[in-house]
Amino acid sequence: MTEHPALNFKPPPPVSWIVRTLEAEGFETWAVGGSVRDVLAGRSSGDWDFTTRARPHDIMRIFRRTVPIGVDHGTVGVLARDGTLYEVTTFRRDVQTDGRHAQVVFSDTLEEDLSRRDFTINAMAWHPLSGELRDPFGGGQDLEEGRLRTVGDPAERFREDYLRVLRALRFAGDFNFQIEEQSWGALQESVPFLPQLSPERIREELLKSLSLKAAPRVLELYRTSGVLRVLYPEVDEGNWMETVKVVGHLPPFRSQLRLAGFLSRIPPLPRAGGGTDPGMPRLLSVLERLRLSNVLIKGTATVADGVRRPPLGEDPSMLRLWLSRVGVERVNDTLRVAGALARALEEEGIEGAMEVHLRRLRGLRSQLRTNPPLTQADLALDGKDLMRMGLKPGPQFGRILESALHAVLEVPELNKKETLEALVRELWFDSGEST
Ligand code: ATP
Ligand code: MG
Repeated sequence: MTEHPALNFKPPPPVSWIVRTLEAEGFETWAVGGSVRDVLAGRSSGDWDFTTRARPHDIMRIFRRTVPIGVDHGTVGVLARDGTLYEVTTFRRDVQTDGRHAQVVFSDTLEEDLSRRDFTINAMAWHPLSGELRDPFGGGQDLEEGRLRTVGDPAERFREDYLRVLRALRFAGDFNFQIEEQSWGALQESVPFLPQLSPERIREELLKSLSLKAAPRVLELYRTSGVLRVLYPEVDEGNWMETVKVVGHLPPFRSQLRLAGFLSRIPPLPRAGGGTDPGMPRLLSVLERLRLSNVLIKGTATVADGVRRPPLGEDPSMLRLWLSRVGVERVNDTLRVAGALARALEEEGIEGAMEVHLRRLRGLRSQLRTNPPLTQADLALDGKDLMRMGLKPGPQFGRILESALHAVLEVPELNKKETLEALVRELWFDSGEST
């Protein structure tokens, strides 16, 4: 039992209500984990979690509005009057772990429940009615001294669930804590095993980390621990200072933009026949590996690629070509990330980067004001016209329209039906490719 000024803290009414209601039925209940840590650290806490001796069927009987979030694992959601869903979980202990999942069984003591938690600062329980703190592993002191430490033997704890490696980096970065020496050593030795984790868990950790104000610090830890090299080798090959700064110059709550920023410095691969691969396939492969939705994969890759390959020059046709590649819907996001990159480059001593960016921005805006044709759908000529001209429908239609679009991107005035028909005749009929 420790006295701590922050523990006189008055929790939101539903927090006391949940504990009072369960204890009135004879079930010991505590606030636990992240919320206790955050309050002790003087931060406001969003989600309160509870741990209780009550079993899921008890919890569902006692509260009127519940959601069976993970009953097998002991977790029931309790809906408070203010509409917030609180997670209430039965005391548990781990019986078997394999680096990916823990098999848990219910337990009757708070101490057992706390001992299965990952880090000392996450393994404290607080009683909202009495104000009592249970802190068997010295989490309060670690919090005070800025130290992240596993509960129990670090090597064992990481081996049980390798996600803890990524969580450690996130918490250490977020709180600007040092990872205690033994934990750090064991963490580094666990890094090669991270690919065993499910892509979804890796992705959620990355997105959580990217949405922190302290994301640059977490990313630095990804790099020094070797996590970057193992999970994101393509990013590791890029200019690291720039990558970190781009992310830092984007707003934390725009984690999708930050993800695009994170990928925006991936270098292209040299191509076998000379030249470079534009790099889009590499971007896509990182995003596919993370199992993002197709919409997010497409959007994020487009933005990152638009930043990686800015307009090749400042003349209007180059600007239109870039707008066509990025697409009108993605222009604002892409320019936002490009702006963050320009700031990063300036900080890295590349003078004039911001000036170039702003000039480009003005040029692109003035192009957009003329509402130029940018996609095949904007062309004054379509598939029906091609058929009317006697061409047989097939895959070559796409190629024909693509070349028409290229001509129109260069000279928008060409976007007239007769002009494009003449162009198609010249390009495709004479070359004998119409058959
Ligand atoms: P945040 O919500 O800010 O990410 P948190 O500490 O609340 O931080 P959660 O993922 O919400 O993290 O988990 C709640 C609590 O459950 C943690 O504080 C920790 O005690 C425990 N916990 C979560 N994940 C693990 C894990 N992989 N191994 C051990 N304990 C864990
Ligand atoms: Mg939480």
